[in-house]
Amino acid sequence: MTDRSPDGALVWARNSRLRVVPPVQPRKLAKVPFVELADGRLQGVVSSGSDIERVYVSSIAAGTHNYNCSTNNNRPCGGLYGSPCKHLRALVAEAVVQYGTGRVARYLRAEVPEGAELADCLHGVHEPAPAAVVFSRFLRHLAYLEVPDTTLPIPELHWFPATGAVR
Ligand SMILES: [Zn+2]
Repeated sequence: MTDRSPDGALVWARNSRLRVVPPVQPRKLAKVPFVELADGRLQGVVSSGSDIERVYVSSIAAGTHNYNCSTNNNRPCGGLYGSPCKHLRALVAEAVVQYGTGRVARYLRAEVPEGAELADCLHGVHEPAPAAVVFSRFLRHLAYLEVPDTTLPIPELHWFPATGAVR
């Protein structure tokens, strides 16, 4: 259980480019460091509330709204008991901050009545989905984040294995 970082992802990151879209509102990166509308899904990476070293890959499919949440090592999230876990709710909340409710709802093809919360208008069921692709995209995204010059630790990167990816 030491292999947290998918091999190859960092090599890929060096050879790829990804545009970073400015958020509609400032986001709290520590909680949901990565969110995107891609591959027919709202998907992203959500920090564990209790373990700084653990992250979850959460996704919701457009159309069906079927959802999945697992660790980046594909271990199922323990919070999925027949309904979306707190990571999925955090993902939706952050997507709304990043893209605005209208854009996220259109992408997911969700009907959101006036005054309703988007998260309450999704009626999918749990459907396993691989986490590796999303996690690789997150690593690529990280490689191109502009980190301001600072000598202070960056909390959202603490879980990231600084030496684990190097052989
Ligand atoms: Zn979860």
